Amino acid sequence: MSQWPIGVFASVDAGLGVQLEVARELGVPTIQLHAPHAGSRTPEKAQAFLAKLKEYGLTLTVVFGGFEGESYADIPTVVRTVGLVPPETRAARLQEMKEISDFAKLLGCKAVGLHIGFVPHDVTTAAFKDIVAVTQDLCDYVKKNGQAVHLETGQETADGLLAFIGAVGRDNLFVNFDPANMILYGSGEPIAALRQVGKYVRSVHCKDGTWAKRPGQEWGCEVPLGQGDVGMYNYLKTLKEIGYEGPLTIEREIPQEPERQKSEIGHAVRLLTELREKLL
Ligand code: MG
Repeated sequence: MSQWPIGVFASVDAGLGVQLEVARELGVPTIQLHAPHAGSRTPEKAQAFLAKLKEYGLTLTVVFGGFEGESYADIPTVVRTVGLVPPETRAARLQEMKEISDFAKLLGCKAVGLHIGFVPHDVTTAAFKDIVAVTQDLCDYVKKNGQAVHLETGQETADGLLAFIGAVGRDNLFVNFDPANMILYGSGEPIAALRQVGKYVRSVHCKDGTWAKRPGQEWGCEVPLGQGDVGMYNYLKTLKEIGYEGPLTIEREIPQEPERQKSEIGHAVRLLTELREKLL
C-alpha cells in the first residue's frame, strides 16, 4: 500500500459509518469497519464481506468495537456508558471485544480498535488498576489472533494516555489518533498531543471540530473536514513528522443525513488528496 492511502469509516449494520457501496462510490482504497452485530459475525458473513471488499477494491485496516448501551449524548453520559470502563457491563463487553477480534481475524484484519471509555486519572486507585487489567486481558487475547489493539483518542489527555499505555505494558497496544475528539472532549490541543503520543500512533481519523465554550464540560461541535479548529495542513504535516505512513481514514458521523454525509466525505477526500500532494 502506498503512503497515506485515503480511507473512510464504514458500517454494515451497526455504528455511524457509511455503507460499503458508498465507500466504493467515493473511490477510496481503504476502510475501517465498525464491527457488525453479533448475529452478523459468522464465518459465512465474513466470507461474503471479503468477497465484497475484493469486488470494490477496498482494503480493511481496522475493525472497531462498539457496544449496545453506549451513548454519546453528552460528556457525563459518555463517562457512564462508553467502553470497558463502566463496571457493570465490563465483563460482557470484554467478551464481546474478544469475539470481535475473532471476527476481524476471519477478515484478515490485524488491528481492533475501541473507545475504552474515560480512564480514571488517579493511577493509584482500584478503578484505574481494574481498567489496566481488563486492557491487558484484551491485548493478550488479540495477540493470539496476531492483532494489535488501537485505542481511540479523545477522552484522555496525551499525558493520561501515555500513563495508561505505560501501565498496561503490552507491546501490541497502540493509538488510533482522532484530532477532532481532543477538541470535542476538550482534552487538549490535538497537534501537541499527536507529537506526544506519536510513537504509538498506528491508525488515524481525519475528522474536524470546534472547541466548546466550556471545553471538557460540554461538547465541541463536529464539522466538515477543513472547517474546524484542527488545521488539516498542520495535522498532516505533523503526521509526516512523526513518521506515520498509514491510512488517512475519514470519519463523519452523520448517518441520519446520508446524502450530506457522502458529499462532505467526498469533499474531505479531495482536501486530503490535495494536502497529500503538497506534503509528500
Ligand atoms: Mg474517531
